Formats: sequence, structure tokens, C-alpha cells
Amino acid sequence: MHELAVMAGIIDVVSQYAKAQNAKKILDIRLTVGALRDFQEVWVRHYFEKFSRGTLAEGATITMAIQPIRFRCKACEHSTEMGREAFINTPTATCEQCGSAELVLCSGSQLMIDGIEVQL
Ligand SMILES: [Zn+2]
Repeated sequence: MHELAVMAGIIDVVSQYAKAQNAKKILDIRLTVGALRDFQEVWVRHYFEKFSRGTLAEGATITMAIQPIRFRCKACEHSTEMGREAFINTPTATCEQCGSAELVLCSGSQLMIDGIEVQL
């Protein structure tokens, strides 16, 4: 359900952008979402349809690219990628190369609007 507030915010941002460009409508919105955000595409689409009604974004296509969860080991700089399920089921993640538990999250929590295509 956390997709609700986020989608309302995204529609706000893209609508402002489209207005500033004097666009007639928004055709396509591309998002990059980190796997840690746990965004369900079905809810993203549901809230998008709901909140975009009557805005410049109504009828636009929405594409969502999921970024994997990635850690960098502080000890050996090795980078490890992990799926969301593996991450949840691994309470004490360690480096697969040297076994160190000093891992730094470097990808997986982002939420970005990558691109907006408008009709002028
Ligand atoms: Zn390591």
C-alpha cells in the first residue's frame, strides 16, 4: 500500500514537468525502483490509473525497472548482488568472497523517474 503516496507524488512531479514544457499530454513514464522498495507492479499501475485521471498523465504508459540489491564488501571491495527474497532470508549477510560481515548497501533502495515522454 506504500505505493499509494509515492505514485501520487510521481504524478505530481511529472505533471509539473509537462506543464512547464507546455506539453499536451504525457505519453510514457519510466521509473527505476530498488528491490528493497518492494513495489508491486500491480499496485503501481492501480494507483497510477487512479491518480492520473484528469491529469496530463492520464493514459500514459508506465515502465518500471527493478534495480537489484547490491552490497560492497568493506574488507575486499567485492560486490555481491542479491534478490529480495534472498536478502530477507539472510539476516546476517556476509561477503561471498572473504566472509566479512562489513557490507555496505550500494544499490536497491533507489526510486527514480528515469524518463518522461511528452506530446508537445
Ligand atoms: Zn569481502
